[in-house]
Amino acid sequence: MTALRERRVGDEVLFYARKRFVAKARILGLLHNRPLAKEIWGVDENQKTWEHMMALGDVVEFDVSAEPILEGLSIPVPLRSLTLVHAEERRRFLHLATSPSQPERTAPSTGTRGPGDQAALVRDDLFRALASLKTHIKGQRPSRHKPITLLWAIGRLTRGEERMVEWETFKAEVAPLLKEFGHPDSRVTPEYPFWHLRSSGLWSVEGVVGQGATPTPSQLASSRARAGLGKDAAAILRRSLSRAEAIGLLCSTYFADADRDRLLERVGLAGYTSASGEIPTGGSGTVKRRRVTSSQPDRDQRLVEHIKMMYKHECQVCGSRVETRYSHYSEAAHIRGIGKPHDGPDELSNLLCLCPNHHVEFDRLAIYIDEDWSVRRNSTGDVAFELRRHADHVIDEEHLRYHRGLCGRV
Ligand SMILES: [Zn+2]
Repeated sequence: MTALRERRVGDEVLFYARKRFVAKARILGLLHNRPLAKEIWGVDENQKTWEHMMALGDVVEFDVSAEPILEGLSIPVPLRSLTLVHAEERRRFLHLATSPSQPERTAPSTGTRGPGDQAALVRDDLFRALASLKTHIKGQRPSRHKPITLLWAIGRLTRGEERMVEWETFKAEVAPLLKEFGHPDSRVTPEYPFWHLRSSGLWSVEGVVGQGATPTPSQLASSRARAGLGKDAAAILRRSLSRAEAIGLLCSTYFADADRDRLLERVGLAGYTSASGEIPTGGSGTVKRRRVTSSQPDRDQRLVEHIKMMYKHECQVCGSRVETRYSHYSEAAHIRGIGKPHDGPDELSNLLCLCPNHHVEFDRLAIYIDEDWSVRRNSTGDVAFELRRHADHVIDEEHLRYHRGLCGRV
């Protein structure tokens, strides 16, 4: 039931039969409909049917032995029920499927974790924790205090500032963010995330005795309490890919209907609102673009021309070609921006040839490219196009993964 509940549109489903994986497909829709299920499949001897239904697409058939993969994932063989595999584990599974010689293992996650840094936190745990923050629910909407605070902490980390922050500083910096980006009916209580983020396993608090009720602001002030990201979480989030993925995940999970661009700008993470790291700022009619830093490296014009010629100015997403009076027009787009904060390389493997519309959509994270080269719309996960690839154009999949991270597709 847990696996059923945690399925998401866009997830991949593997089909298992006779100890082999025989096909994969993508979840396009989820529904719970008992009458429909009865109509299609009838009922078993206990009058039960298969009412948790999935609409699947992108079916690809193949045939691989399941046992080494299931063993690698510590899933009992044979497989008898629905098993949910985290995206990161899935990557390891793919690794197992393609080169069975050296299965990659990371430290197993240990059971319960107390406040602070007592147990080693691995990357999977971090993303699981970020995606399932326990938030106080008021009315229909979960409070945004914790995710706002985490973004603020990641902003500090990115600027190389102190991990642990004293309560007075925390309050001065976080309270205005809670006021601006929390729900209008949610009270501004910075002591709440300061204290309760510990339950996520990603957060440390020092200087306060006791684990129970939220200390009052005056208690926090008099004890000179300090809080910040846990050591392990900070270590993972210092890596650029993990950081991009964490920011993307927090934004897509908790701020779907908020002004994310403004929020990221306020916590010093403005560059993460686009793949290029450049922030389009609104103007009346004309869009002025300003650079995040003044030291963005200049791109290699030969590579720009090369990629455009390779595709004859045809957009790799939609295939269209913008005509000009004497020639054609296209744009060379870096998958992972070459300036701050992304620091991608200026190489052909990090470039795409796009039409202006798809360049904007790609840069502003409205579309992303999946592992199977389908171009998906970020708002729905729907496949919009198949990425066109020239035989001589080797695209580095790590850059696409980074871009997906920015899109919140971890
Ligand atoms: Zn296009």
